[in-house]
Formats: sequence, C-alpha cells, structure tokens
Amino acid sequence: MPSTFSYQFDTPSHKGITEFSTGLFINGEFVDGSENSTIDVINPATGKLITKISQGTPKDVDRAVAAAQHAFETSWGLKCPGAERAKLMNKLADLMEEHEDELAAVEALDNGKTFYWAKNADLKGAIDCIRYYAGWADKIQGKTIETNDGKLVYTRHEPLGVVGQIIPWNFPLLMLSWKIGPALATGNAIVLKPSEFTPLSALLTAKLAKEAGFPPGVFNVVNGYGATVGAAIAEHMDIEKVAFTGSTLVGRKIMEAAAKTNLKKVTLELGGKSPNIIFDDADLEAAVNWAAFGIFWNQGQTCCAGSRIFVHAKIYDEFLHLFTEKAKQVKVGDPFHPDSKQGPQVSNAQFDRIMSYIDSGKDEGATVHHGGVRVGDEGYFISPTIFTDTRPDMKIVKEEIFGPVGVVIKFDDDEDVIRQANDTVYGLACSVFSQNINRALETAHKLKAGTAWVNCANMLHASVPFGGFKQSGIGRELGEYALENYTAVKAVHVNFGHQWSVA
Ligand code: NAD
Repeated sequence: MPSTFSYQFDTPSHKGITEFSTGLFINGEFVDGSENSTIDVINPATGKLITKISQGTPKDVDRAVAAAQHAFETSWGLKCPGAERAKLMNKLADLMEEHEDELAAVEALDNGKTFYWAKNADLKGAIDCIRYYAGWADKIQGKTIETNDGKLVYTRHEPLGVVGQIIPWNFPLLMLSWKIGPALATGNAIVLKPSEFTPLSALLTAKLAKEAGFPPGVFNVVNGYGATVGAAIAEHMDIEKVAFTGSTLVGRKIMEAAAKTNLKKVTLELGGKSPNIIFDDADLEAAVNWAAFGIFWNQGQTCCAGSRIFVHAKIYDEFLHLFTEKAKQVKVGDPFHPDSKQGPQVSNAQFDRIMSYIDSGKDEGATVHHGGVRVGDEGYFISPTIFTDTRPDMKIVKEEIFGPVGVVIKFDDDEDVIRQANDTVYGLACSVFSQNINRALETAHKLKAGTAWVNCANMLHASVPFGGFKQSGIGRELGEYALENYTAVKAVHVNFGHQWSVA
C-alpha cells in the first residue's frame, strides 16, 4: 500500500488538512511502484523533505498503458458519448474549484511559486482549461464532402487511443490541464508523467478524478524520472501519441524515440528566449510593469518569459531607472507570505544553473545592473536580476536561463531590432510596446514567434493556441487547434450504386 501524504494548509481564505496517496495512480487506484522505490520531494523554500512518492518504472508504464487500453476499448473512446465525457470533466473542474486552496497550497509548497499566483493564475487557468475542453467534448465532428461522382464522403474525427503526456515542473497543474483537457474531450485514455520535482498536485488531481467518476484506466499517473518512466512512455509501442512540455534537449529525445519505435504522433512545447521590444512611443509606465511581469513572474521559470528586453535609445535611461525600481519592489520570500511576490527557484539544481549563468554574464563582461545574488540563507531564492552592457554572443543573451534574469539591450533602428530579436534558435513568444498601432502590428508580424503580445506579456487563454516556431516546438496546445493533436481523421466513402470494374 502506498503511503498517504497529509498536509495542514493555512491560507488567507482557508485552513484545513489535505490528504492524498503518494503512489502511482493506475486503473483508478493508487498503487505501489513495481520496485517499491521512492523519490524525495523537496520544499524549495527550505531545502527540506516534504514527503516521498512512489517511483515508477517502465514496467509500471506497461501496467498503466494496459489499463488505459482496456478503458479506451470498453468504457471510453467511442464507447462514451461526448456529453458524458463533458459531464465528468465539468465534475472534475468543480471539484478542483471546491479544493482550490488545497491544490494551490500544495502547488506552492512543492514548486515554490507564491500561493497568490498558484491560486489566481495556475489554479484558475487549469480549471478554465478543463471547462473549456469539456465544452468541446460533444462537438468533435467531421465533415461531409460532396465528390459529385455518385459517392458521398464523410469524415470522422476519431480518438487515437492511449496517449502519453510528459509535463515539466514550472506550471505543474496548468500544464497537466493543457494536456488532459483536449485528450479527454476527444476520448483518449491517458498515461501522464509529472515532473519528478513537482508531482504532488497531479496526485491530488488524480484523487479528485477518481471522485469525479472517470472510468478506471482513463487517467493514469506514473511518477518517475525522465530517463526511465519518461523514456518508456516515448518508446511505448501501444502509445499512439506523446505530448511533451519541457526542454528542447529532451524534446529531441522524445522525437527520436517516437521515430525509432511506432512513429507515434509527437507534439512538443519547448524552451524560449523571447524578445520584448519597447519603442520610444510606448506608454512607459505600462511597458515597465509588463516587462517586469514578463521576466520575473513565476521566478522567471516561464517558457515564454520576455528575457531579452530591447529598449529604444530615446527612452532607455528612463526605462532602466523605472524597471530597476520595479525589480527592487519585487519582494522575494516565503511563498505563503501575503507580501511575497517571488518565491524560490524550484530546486537546488536550477538555483545552481541560474547562478552559473549570472557568473557567466559577469565573466563575459556584462554589467549586473541589479540583483544577481542569493536571497536568504536557506532555500533557493535569487533576487530579480538585470544585466546591461551585453553583446549578442554572450550566453546570457543567447540561452534560456529559466530564472529571474533579464538582459536590457539598447536599440535605435526598428528594422535592426527586429533582426536582433529574430536572431535566436527559439520562437515561442514576443512582446511589442508602442502606442502606434501600425508600428506595433507590423513588428509583431515580422517577429518569428508562435505568440505575439502587443502592449502586454505572458497572457494566456484556454481558447487561444500556444506553441512555438523554430526550436520552440511542434504543434499547438490550447484552443480548437489542440483537438487536432488528439484525433485521427477517417474518410468514409459511401457509394450510391455506381459500378467500377477493372475488366
Ligand atoms: P525537462 O525537459 O528536463 O523535463 C520535462 C519533463 O520531461 C519532466 O517530466 C522530465 O522528467 C521528463 N524527461 C526528462 N528526460 C526525459 C527523457 N529522456 N525522456 C522522456 N522524458 C524525459 O524540462 P524541465 O526542466 O522540467 O522544464 C523546463 C523546460 O520546459 C524549459 O526549457 C521550458 O522552456 C520548457 N517549458 C516549455 C513550455 C512551453 O509551453 N513551450 C512550457 C513550460 C516549460
């Protein structure tokens, strides 16, 4: 029997105890992993152990896939009407809402993000996403096609079967909802692997999914490491599709594994080094606020973070002054303290990685204009950091840091800044600030990115597609676009009696 994690949460609006199993969730039950080993779950605010979870193995992936296949064939997939799937999904969303403080507290504890943002961004976004896709569940329809040759053709958008979903640690619950929303709406059965760093909210969600009444096997969670459980999902012959969010490095491995095995469909949401262009005619105060939100939100652990901030020479000094003041106001501290705006980085490894980027910036001759230091003496806190005097070839300008570290770059030519902004292997997002709508839109259209924000940053909505150009990914999540990832189109030709003969 897997053990139970019991956590006393105390949030501004709620006090209580949450309890859920730390096992694997397979076939509607929490179970031990096949090898009875565990993974330590660490609180990034203290560096101390929160709990241990069962560690899955490739054998456990096989068990989960078998359960998912059975569910797909007997009680889900084409066996379950869309309206029924919608009902279950809405029930899950209702339960998540009922337990939102509990879920947000677990997310803040495990990931280090502030409780405020966990509740108001992650939780809200996750619930909205599941409700949005519940709305699609009974609207998955094909087309009829008149071929005018005595035949009628119609298409069916059929679910794929068992899908694998591998998610990262930066938005554990939100990424889970982006994955399970379209998969469940279209009738697929799921084997999901949360990040080994932040598995807790997925396990609590599994408990709620059971309570919502999903047939056993429709939604399975296999905790574990990427190299074992993640790789087993990517290689599995009975998994028809894998959806992955994470680093570009691992994204390549997922594609390779799919290519070498059953050519499963692959969608990838990968990294970014997004430009944020602030023209001289921008509303400066708004641009400063959005730029700070763009890079510092979620401790900078946001794939679409506006980490390269290009500022027009005419307003550069004023922007830098106001932006620095803003960075100083970002209160770094305990994720549960109501004044905290920034929590710790997710892990010791990420902390070290970010600090080594900061060192490399200094070594390569950039100026630390603000921050660049550890905050406190326990946990993994880093101050909001601003670099200036950079060159395009520096690591801090080229590579994704995934921390609260922005580079501010001066420009004075519109075409040249677009060239610089596009000079990256990534293409996830971009922001443009100008009160001249022609200039703003023209620039947004010229930037090579899957999302362009005009006079804002980091805005997401369940109905709006999200994904990358270039090495930021393949395919789109969210919106109607994501439904295509989870369906196969079948064309049915109906003959009205015309005879064809080879002889
Ligand atoms: P990661 O690539 O290290 O891990 C992501 C997931 O993949 C984890 O669950 C991990 O266990 C698993 N994994 C690791 N090795 C694997 C392997 N060989 N086979 C299969 N699975 C494996 O990424 P991370 O550090 O958890 O997340 C940060 C990265 O995610 C950043 O690069 C960020 O930009 C990206 N990200 C992208 C988006 C997006 O929508 N584009 C959203 C969030 C995060």
